[in-house]
Amino acid sequence: MSKTALITGVTGQDGAYLASHLLKQGYRVVGAIRRNSLPNVARLEELGVIKDVELVGFELLEFSNIQHVIERYKPDEVYNLAAQSFVASSFELPTYTADCDALGVVRLLEAIRVVRPDTRFYQASTSEMFGKVRETPQTETTPFHPRSPYAVAKLYGHWITVNYRESYGMHASSGILFNHESPLRGQEFVTRKVTLGLARVKHGHAECIELGNMDSKRDWGFAGDYVEGMWRMLQQPSADDYVLAAGETHSVREFLCQVGAALGFDIVFEGEGVGERGIDRKSGKTVLRINEKFYRPAEVDLLLGSPRKAEAKLGWKRSVSFPELVQSMTQADERRVRDNNVRF
Ligand code: NDP
Ligand code: GDP
Repeated sequence: MSKTALITGVTGQDGAYLASHLLKQGYRVVGAIRRNSLPNVARLEELGVIKDVELVGFELLEFSNIQHVIERYKPDEVYNLAAQSFVASSFELPTYTADCDALGVVRLLEAIRVVRPDTRFYQASTSEMFGKVRETPQTETTPFHPRSPYAVAKLYGHWITVNYRESYGMHASSGILFNHESPLRGQEFVTRKVTLGLARVKHGHAECIELGNMDSKRDWGFAGDYVEGMWRMLQQPSADDYVLAAGETHSVREFLCQVGAALGFDIVFEGEGVGERGIDRKSGKTVLRINEKFYRPAEVDLLLGSPRKAEAKLGWKRSVSFPELVQSMTQADERRVRDNNVRF
């Protein structure tokens, strides 16, 4: 009989890729979706999996609902991807973020413990927990120093996952994932903001884009590779924590220049701080301005992960390089802008 997997956050970037991956493995996939006035299933449609995912109403803030969903489906595997996932918003919504990203995890774990404790559980932890990094590259043993309400809440989610594993012997794993992107990434994240924004500038739909800190560095990989790593974690005989990362780091500035080049711009920089501008050398037009409102109260300057444990123990390896990621995201957004079809 095929296994049943429950994916929370199925409407998000990772949820869509994971649903697609699990369907290919023969799973029955139950997609947990929160109530919205308009169901947000565009990513599942884009990957052509919407008809194969069974959708169920799910709310991270509501224990009775979570317990009911676990009782109804008795999933073999639960992937907890649902979260208030945007660092910048967490400074505006700190208690809400804690409710979703910290307490939401223990609600889910507790429902599983009571109803079906042999369910395998994946928690979507994050490299943001390393924050003001204590060592580089960051590994599973690097101490944490979170720098945002998002990262603090996720740190609780990480440790409560470890705690349920140690206290109750549950097969609960935490994937400490470095930034992963794709054409399905949310528009508020910097990579997508750049690919969509510059495509709009190129096609005359916008004058320029506005960003904040151009010098922070991230270890960016392709989301499709990372969901495969999540699945591999739950196929191990015992649960553990793993870093998934590309193992290389690039600045926001570098990402912008590469996207610009892919769109035919030659971006050079003038000025400093909030007065800095990015100018297309070919046309002389300003395509980038800095806006203070996109700076964060506390920044994570550098993330660089070591995927060595995941490579050795899970046999996981990313398949998409940084230039390939830039190309695929840029091409997808240019096509969407050209076709006037930006759905998410
Ligand atoms: P997205 O923001 O694309 O997706 C988040 C999902 O969570 C959406 O489906 C959203 O639903 C759902 N959600 C939010 N709040 C609730 C709630 N209260 N109840 C039920 N569902 C809710 O995130 P990603 O796919 O990029 O990331 C997946 C997970 O991995 C997240 O937990 C994120 O924090 C974590 N992570 C992501 C990284 C990345 O680089 N992408 C890196 C490390 C960790 P809706 O569509 O209705 O908004
Ligand atoms: P994060 O690593 O989860 O916070 O992913 P983001 O894509 O939101 O941000 C990555 C980095 O880009 C952070 O250091 C941000 O400060 C930086 N950044 C600079 N300008 C912007 C912007 O306009 N939007 C976002 N989202 N990030 C920006």
